[in-house]
Amino acid sequence: MAKSIKFFELNTGAKIPSVGLGTWAAAPNAIGGAFTTAVKVGYRHVDCAQMYGNEKQIGVALKKVFKDGLVKREDLWITSKLCRNTDHAPEDVPQALNRTLRDLQLDYVDLYLIHWPGHDIPSTWRAMEALFDSGKARAIGVSNFSVKQLEDLLAVARVTPAVNQVKIHPVWQQPRLCEYFKSKGIHLTGYSPLGSSGTPILKNPIVTTVAEKLGKTPAQVALRWGLQMGHSVVPKSTNEARIEQNFDVCEWSIAENLFAKFSESEKMRL
Ligand code: NAP
Repeated sequence: MAKSIKFFELNTGAKIPSVGLGTWAAAPNAIGGAFTTAVKVGYRHVDCAQMYGNEKQIGVALKKVFKDGLVKREDLWITSKLCRNTDHAPEDVPQALNRTLRDLQLDYVDLYLIHWPGHDIPSTWRAMEALFDSGKARAIGVSNFSVKQLEDLLAVARVTPAVNQVKIHPVWQQPRLCEYFKSKGIHLTGYSPLGSSGTPILKNPIVTTVAEKLGKTPAQVALRWGLQMGHSVVPKSTNEARIEQNFDVCEWSIAENLFAKFSESEKMRL
């Protein structure tokens, strides 16, 4: 039976599915199959970026899942990101989104993020706001922004960012940053929720102890920790069994007494 999905409501009123498929470092010849598997498993959220170099392949897979009737466009959440450095000038921002839309074969993305803060955040943000006004980006946000960088942005913003996508996992919890963004009504998406390449956190003794007690895998516990903290998570996998495993995190929970172990920060070091 299909697993149920949990959503988080953004400050736009839209609901972002809590678990998305990460696509960074997914080989172009593997990402299409991985995405299709994910849709069949029940994922309704994919985390893309122009700089990952595989949006064309995702676009081909998107076209096919729509054609085959596996999912409708309006039921999918597609995030993409403004390239790291090269597209931050205001006149380059709309062209960058147009390239992404062309590659993904879409009319709009659900969320468009500034991938990394640049030198002139206010002027880039104004160009992002114009994309929001145009409807080509149904929500806009940031990624890898610190508290100071958000403050600079909010000083000029007409549209408050809906999301900050940052590295968050049980061993890199970023409590001050999370508290600040939440106080501004900005949702956090945790990237590298398994610790990225080599997945070191999956060997962390607290993660493995909780996993053993619950009969879950360390990856599932790390992802479930993120959801219970109120973050959406975007684990990357191109392996069918792991794609399925990573999605099975919405229908159970980590009880309070076990969840409390994650705040024993001394033991949460790598
Ligand atoms: P991650 O999702 O934390 O970890 C991915 C690694 O874990 C891969 O090697 C994957 O290998 C393996 N893996 C996946 N599921 C597993 C499981 N159940 N058990 C054991 N190993 C598992 O790392 P990430 O790719 O760095 O981050 C996830 C996504 O966040 C990215 O793909 C990207 O979409 C986003 N991201 C955004 C930024 C940003 O600046 N905004 C930066 C980094 C990442 P297999 O594929 O072989 O399963």
